[in-house]
Amino acid sequence: MPLENMKTMLAQAAADRYAVGAFNILDYNSTKAVVQAAEELHAPVIIQTSAKTVTFWGSGTLMGWMRELAGNAKVPVAVHLDHCKDLDLIKECIEAGWTSVMIDASARPFEENLALSRQVVQMARPKNITVEAELGAIVGVEDDIHVREQDSHLADPEQAVEFCARVEPDCFAPAIGTAHGIYKGEPKIAYHVLEQVAASTRVPIALHGGTGLSDEVFRRCISLGCAKVNISTQIKYAFIDGFVGYHQAHDTQYDPLKVIGAQFDEMKKGIMANIRLFGSAGKA
Ligand SMILES: [Zn+2]
Repeated sequence: MPLENMKTMLAQAAADRYAVGAFNILDYNSTKAVVQAAEELHAPVIIQTSAKTVTFWGSGTLMGWMRELAGNAKVPVAVHLDHCKDLDLIKECIEAGWTSVMIDASARPFEENLALSRQVVQMARPKNITVEAELGAIVGVEDDIHVREQDSHLADPEQAVEFCARVEPDCFAPAIGTAHGIYKGEPKIAYHVLEQVAASTRVPIALHGGTGLSDEVFRRCISLGCAKVNISTQIKYAFIDGFVGYHQAHDTQYDPLKVIGAQFDEMKKGIMANIRLFGSAGKA
């Protein structure tokens, strides 16, 4: 089926209390792993690209692979631009065929974040492109966005209601205590903030910083309204470990396709486990 935006898949997920996995791809091999994992499990899925990955390969090249791999998939696939603060890149991706974008103006003061996020919605909606917007500051490093622990702060539930009413995002990313990268110690999730924000905004919530959360934390966040779960760091690890691990075990063998095959298997295995855990298997 042709690529679609996130609207229908997230509405169904929010209504049925499961979450759609949004997996950050890096290249052709990782994109293929996401699509095949979703097809095998009959799950809707989101292929997510960081702004850095788009810049690295070029939007046209990347979209060529994604369309080839996902445009004929047997399950609904959305192609989403992750954390982007650059309006020009958002426009470029929309023109190149992305079906969904995230505007991350969360580092700006509330009114500026709101105005910029609204501007992206107004630009995207007539083209049937969905928009995710962020409020609060999620700790860690995502792409070139660095948020130090002392600068991170949770989304304010009252501001969240105003933000969503005026921006009208299709998906909302409030900072609720999760972090980008690898967790040091036990993550402190503000479940009360998540619950309040999900119930009062009635917008599907995106859970950022998914890598490293326990199954229990995932289940609880999804039950409280997270309809999209972002997985990035885990794929980076599988990408490197799958590749390096195979070579270390077969260090006299120089057969690149076997190494790439092992890398593929490692990524796909993790993605399939995520899809099962998030409850989206069998939902397509
Ligand atoms: Zn994120």
